[in-house]
Amino acid sequence: MQIVDIQITHHQLPLDPPFPASWDTQPRRRFPATIVRVRDNEGRTGVGSGDAMVGFADYASLFIGQDPRLLERHAAVLDNISFHAGRCWPLEIALWDLVGQIEGRPVWQKVGGRADRLQAYASLGTHRTPAETVVLALQAVEAGFPAVKIRFGRPLLEDDLAVVAAVSGALAGRARLLVDCNQGWRMPWDTQKPWSYAQALEVAQELARHGVYWMEEPLHRADYAGMAKLRGATTVKIAGGEGTREIYEFYTLLERGCLDVYQPDVVWTGGMVQLRQLAFAVAEAGSLFTPHTWGNGIGLLANLHLTAGTVGAPFLEFPWDPPFWTVARRDFMLVEAVEVDQAGWLTCSHAPGLGIVLDEEQLARTLSGRSTYQ
Ligand SMILES: [Mg+2]
Repeated sequence: MQIVDIQITHHQLPLDPPFPASWDTQPRRRFPATIVRVRDNEGRTGVGSGDAMVGFADYASLFIGQDPRLLERHAAVLDNISFHAGRCWPLEIALWDLVGQIEGRPVWQKVGGRADRLQAYASLGTHRTPAETVVLALQAVEAGFPAVKIRFGRPLLEDDLAVVAAVSGALAGRARLLVDCNQGWRMPWDTQKPWSYAQALEVAQELARHGVYWMEEPLHRADYAGMAKLRGATTVKIAGGEGTREIYEFYTLLERGCLDVYQPDVVWTGGMVQLRQLAFAVAEAGSLFTPHTWGNGIGLLANLHLTAGTVGAPFLEFPWDPPFWTVARRDFMLVEAVEVDQAGWLTCSHAPGLGIVLDEEQLARTLSGRSTYQ
């Protein structure tokens, strides 16, 4: 059995109206997606997506002719490539999808088979007024989501805190409230500094007053000492790690007791082989493992299979902020968008692999030479 071809294509979905993502200083007028297809000599194709595969072309020969089933070997090579070039983990996801098809097993079974489903939380992505955010949060509760995540980053902190007060009052305990402070990393064009420890502590105290369940990325990703100290100073759970690039950094975060909630994204960091091990280590340490999924539906499915099949989580991120961010936009490359059921559950397909069916017509229409938001 051999890998005979790896195809990488870039796509851009035009966004009209634009999506004003709270963590981006530029409104998004297009949504990029890079699709990776890996084909074996018997005509099967595995699919992955999630990062732009920067610098991969020079290393494709390390995979062509190899047995696709050597997943540990492929993950080790991709780990080396991620040091020398970009994060090429979408190929690892495509290989798991392919090997699942070869073996006739869904990926959630291959990683452990603990369960085939998880509840999802509604992850909002825009800055709205307190009244508008309350309407959306109540809509999320109606849709069955057991938790709602809101975003900080308005020009005035008091405006962020007013949204927390309004939404926590309106939810009245019917769903958990999560707050993403988005201080861990910035878009390339955004030079604003992250919060200091004192600012993060002040916010944590306010969030605790409103019963917020977790506070995400309150400090820069490298501030290990600050995260550990903040964790000891508040009852609010400290979450983070979504953009952390290398797998060893997560083990350092664990050793230093930095986080209550670990959020690596399997299509950004580590792939299935490495994050499967990390998920068990996080659970062993008594912390939560619930990946970042803000990307497209293929990344959401990969993180769902990984988490449901290994350690489970109280809930998994589900990017959702209608009408700005809809499942139709997020999953434009799929024939069927990934949806939650009426009780807020996401269920893995029992088809072999990840059960991905690409919308080839839409992919042809959106083909592009560009792979980023720029
Ligand atoms: Mg986040």
